[in-house]
Amino acid sequence: MLYQKPARSLLAVFGLLFLMASAAQAANVTILATGGTIAGTGATSTTTVGYTAATVGVQRLIEAVPELAKVANVTGEQVFQIASENMTNEHWLTLAKRVNVLLAQSSVDGIVITHGTDTLEETAYFLHLVVKSRKPVVLVGAMRPSTALSADGPLNLYNAVLLAASPEARGKGVLVAMGDQIHTARDVSKVNTSTPDAFRTPELGMLGYFQGSKAFFYRQLVRKHTVETEFDVSALASLPSVEIVYGYANVGPVAVDAYMAAGAKGIIHAGVGDGSLAAKVVPALKAARAKGAIVVRASRVGQGILARNGEANDVELDFVVADTLNAQKARILLMLALTKTTSSKEIQRMFYMY
Ligand code: ASP
Repeated sequence: MLYQKPARSLLAVFGLLFLMASAAQAANVTILATGGTIAGTGATSTTTVGYTAATVGVQRLIEAVPELAKVANVTGEQVFQIASENMTNEHWLTLAKRVNVLLAQSSVDGIVITHGTDTLEETAYFLHLVVKSRKPVVLVGAMRPSTALSADGPLNLYNAVLLAASPEARGKGVLVAMGDQIHTARDVSKVNTSTPDAFRTPELGMLGYFQGSKAFFYRQLVRKHTVETEFDVSALASLPSVEIVYGYANVGPVAVDAYMAAGAKGIIHAGVGDGSLAAKVVPALKAARAKGAIVVRASRVGQGILARNGEANDVELDFVVADTLNAQKARILLMLALTKTTSSKEIQRMFYMY
């Protein structure tokens, strides 16, 4: 009896020390919330469309998943509260600068960004090119609002925090955690309007899976990103205007001419097939190039390499090809490229590098 009390208190002290040590060891992950369906609410539990995005604050998102505390020391910051169709270049610059400031701090080991799914792949690729750190940055969203039956947000958020806290995710560029899968920002795309498995990296392939509270990697991107890029947003207040025109049967020059009249510095042409140009559009694109705008041929198809000097003579036209980037990602790379150079040759080099 006499020895029991000291033994018990000794155990309690050791227990406390152990808890303090493991809390100190756990990674510090900051969640930057920007809105989207992951923070959305619907009228009933069966409302999976026609709900309101961006209504739940970051603190409530964190509280809804107490399991987060088991994988990281989590703190939250509400950066914006918007549906991602309203994302702008200015939002991207604000977000990127905040990410770079946070990741420069030794007290931050990784970042999770909660985001609407509509433009999630674009924000992810922008950050992939301008974040200046090897620490993990993970974007996550949800296809169902937080109030829906089988809402996908909580598990997606748990996986994202797990990934941002894991040493294996370091140096792999910006990652996307959706539906138990890990994707690279460069290649992932939203490919379904409404189902929970809407994010895919067809052909080039996702990087890994989540299973049993662990991230499993199987491949990694070989294109340059984050600390290896030449882009620096720290002094930028805006980005050059780059617009996308779409290819289809019967298309004419109106969109290209209108964008040029509005002052575009670059045009992404999302052509049919291998980026083919309709004869009626070619004069408008030539005129755009003659005025100094950079013209990038991309494809509306969604897969494959855009052949340089294939469907058009890019050398003669002085056009650039988008490699495997879809039009919305080509737009991002061209905007950043234009902050560095107006040489089409240099810009073509960047499209084969990033
Ligand atoms: N419109 C929503 C958004 O992108 C859709 C979503 O988050 O799934 O913000």
